[in-house]
Amino acid sequence: MPAAGKDLHVHGHCYCGGVTFEVMIPAGSAPVFSTYCHCDSCRRAHAAPLYHVVCVEEAMFRITQGEHLLKGYARTGNQLNRVFCSTCGSKIMNRFGDLRFDGKSAVAFFPNLLEEATQHAMPDMLRPKGNYLAEECVLERGVLNQIFGLA
Ligand SMILES: [Zn+2]
Ligand SMILES: [Zn+2]
Repeated sequence: MPAAGKDLHVHGHCYCGGVTFEVMIPAGSAPVFSTYCHCDSCRRAHAAPLYHVVCVEEAMFRITQGEHLLKGYARTGNQLNRVFCSTCGSKIMNRFGDLRFDGKSAVAFFPNLLEEATQHAMPDMLRPKGNYLAEECVLERGVLNQIFGLA
């Protein structure tokens, strides 16, 4: 965990390694949100029972390699554009179209693409702070107990 007052600077890459990115959160700033999402759309898009998503101001996220490999998909009438690596299929980021967060343009990324060492010592500000659409959760109670420590 970085000391207070330090920039947070982490790197990530897709499954094939063709796309790399960095996230730079300046000292005194924080993500817009960090959460697990349990909704049907995210489960289908990521082929997973839940996913961890972190939203940051657009200027804090930068593709450092493989921009040409990126493709995006947005459902008709939906602002959410899910951007993925066209070589390996890893989801890289979500773009939000005209949506603004506190008046700012933002993107979302997935901490499970960060370097392995970062994932095992996840900086506190990137850790999930909630469970979005938990009522749509498909994980069984016993698994939830293990993951979330619920009574
Ligand atoms: Zn890839
Ligand atoms: Zn979702």
